[in-house]
Amino acid sequence: MKLLVTGGAGYVGSVVSALLLEAGHEVVVLDDLSTGHEDAVPQGARLVRGTLRDTAADVLAGAGFEAVLHFAAKSLVGESVEKPGLYWDKNLGESLALLDAMRLAGVPRIVFSSTAATYGEPESTPILETAPTRPTNPYGASKLAIDTALAEYARLHGLGGVSLRYFNVAGAYGRHGERHTVETHLIPNVLKIAQGDGAAVRMFGDDYPTPDGTCVRDYIHVTDLGRAHLLALDACAPGTHQIFNLGSGTGSSVQEVVDVCREVTGREIPAEVAPRRAGDPAVLVASSEKIQAELGWKPERDLRTMIDDAWTFLRSR
Ligand code: UDP
Repeated sequence: MKLLVTGGAGYVGSVVSALLLEAGHEVVVLDDLSTGHEDAVPQGARLVRGTLRDTAADVLAGAGFEAVLHFAAKSLVGESVEKPGLYWDKNLGESLALLDAMRLAGVPRIVFSSTAATYGEPESTPILETAPTRPTNPYGASKLAIDTALAEYARLHGLGGVSLRYFNVAGAYGRHGERHTVETHLIPNVLKIAQGDGAAVRMFGDDYPTPDGTCVRDYIHVTDLGRAHLLALDACAPGTHQIFNLGSGTGSSVQEVVDVCREVTGREIPAEVAPRRAGDPAVLVASSEKIQAELGWKPERDLRTMIDDAWTFLRSR
């Protein structure tokens, strides 16, 4: 298939682009390089530099694209609280421009990078797709609004859409790994300390109602996550919008992550307890039974493999 990957110069988008190319698809990446990296775009993919609002219509018009995989987004929760307008504009506004460009060009399918942040603080875990959606920050709210728009475009215009709601993505796929300028995520931050970049890991809170008092999250390997996108692409059906959670179904605490990082790196990794981070729920674990049952997806790589691959990636840079 001829595919447009928005945000294909970013972490998840570049991994998915690489997997799509390996599966024999033709890939065009559309990225404004505001947070992505030109050298992350896999060889064999053509890069068009631009925003969705200014460029998507021109790229798609009359070009015979069969589907879009949509990753381009602002994704820092803290920043979204400080600058909600930026998140509504870049995430929702530009996604609507993309959807209209797809409609005009007759592109029938979209796989969208949604998030567990659409659920907010869960009433119970593991989180099912039918759980209430009450995002606690503008990032999650803007992604939820896009999910809603996809459902409307499916109903009104016959679009075939799939939203994949990611939990905590980690690991690397070969030369594609996490390279955020502002890094807020736990695993890359712990591995930076292992490399000697910083004094100590700050573990945000040790008094949560969890077995060791630190927050529990559901980590999923970026390669497993990437594979799900290929299945989702095949599952897009005209006039429907489907939602699938993507996690491993296993919870790991911040303390456990730090311990596995110590084992994998063989380094001491000093860690200290810091105050809770605002807005962190105690436990976020996905039920990914739906995607397992309906699309035949299964996670294959455990936490140790994620950390191992992230560590190999970090040391290769
Ligand atoms: N965390 C931490 N220290 C850090 C970064 C994150 O203790 O330097 C904790 C954070 O409070 C959360 C978990 O690690 O409980 C995962 O955070 P991350 O930012 O990786 O992902 P999130 O779950 O917020 O999407």
